[in-house]
Amino acid sequence: QAKRGGPAGTRLFEPSMRDEFRGQLELEGYLRHALERDELVVHYQPIVDLQGGHLLGLEALLRWRHPQRGLLPAGAFVPLAEELGLIEQFDEWVLQTAVRDLAHWPVDCALDGPLWLNVNVSAAQLTQVAAVTAPLSKAPLPAPWRVLIEITERVLTHPADTDAATLQTLRDAGVELVVDDFGTGESSLSSLHRFPLRMLKIDRSFVATLDQNRELVRTITVIGDSLGLTVVAEGIETEEQRAQLTELGLTAGQGYLFARPLRADRLETHLHSTLKFP
Ligand code: C2E
Ligand code: MG
Ligand code: MG
Ligand code: MG
Repeated sequence: QAKRGGPAGTRLFEPSMRDEFRGQLELEGYLRHALERDELVVHYQPIVDLQGGHLLGLEALLRWRHPQRGLLPAGAFVPLAEELGLIEQFDEWVLQTAVRDLAHWPVDCALDGPLWLNVNVSAAQLTQVAAVTAPLSKAPLPAPWRVLIEITERVLTHPADTDAATLQTLRDAGVELVVDDFGTGESSLSSLHRFPLRMLKIDRSFVATLDQNRELVRTITVIGDSLGLTVVAEGIETEEQRAQLTELGLTAGQGYLFARPLRADRLETHLHSTLKFP
């Protein structure tokens, strides 16, 4: 929309925009040094069983301790890190850090089967995902963990990239894939079965507007089930959402209702007190 005082259709360069621009440049300068200055942190958000609330896994979420602005969530700087070409290094660091943070968990804390460690990887292509996760084949995460890599639907829409070598690298690293924010992109259903998929995650925007999206959520759940995938609903904040999602056939979810993303050193205490964690 046109700014006050300018001719229709033009935007005058106002002081607030200059501040915004300067703020952006400053953020960029700091972000380039965040890794070497040891300002990155990984938080972990539980993925739980919607009926009993017990722990099924954790999602690693990147945080940045900005020198002036305090702790920033991934949403505030990951897009910039992608733009600046920093994200690949960050993703590798998150994977290494998560493996280190979780290596000492008791093997018997998993109730049924392994616990998932979900790690987000920004990649345009599957070969990039394979490159980031390749080190896991030399230093795998011990039981009870199983590493799942969260990608967006667009990674699945590169047909040339489905080559056998890439898929083998992923398998050697013990990695399975999760389609994050499922339903927001344009992956074709026929492409889904070609990849080592383990899970679909329903974007939290659908959960926040569940009344308008009940049929969509139900359909995704049916598709996931029929492909043998676990379907996880994101961003569950209320008991009502939990109940409705359960009614729609979902069995797994995450969100502030159960737990916020937590620092590694707070994780175990928190899980002991709020989840069925033996
Ligand atoms: P995502 O993977 O879909 O992660 C879910 C986001 O929703 C996280 O935001 C999480 O903190 C937030 N969230 C969880 N539960 C709730 C809830 O109940 N209500 C609301 N309102 N929000 C909730 P965050 O940490 O800011 O991450 C944003 C996005 O940044 C992530 O979306 C993911 O795409 C990306 N990201 C996070 N960590 C990494 C990383 O290590 N590497 C890469 N490449 N991307 C990352
Ligand atoms: Mg994710
Ligand atoms: Mg998501
Ligand atoms: Mg999302």
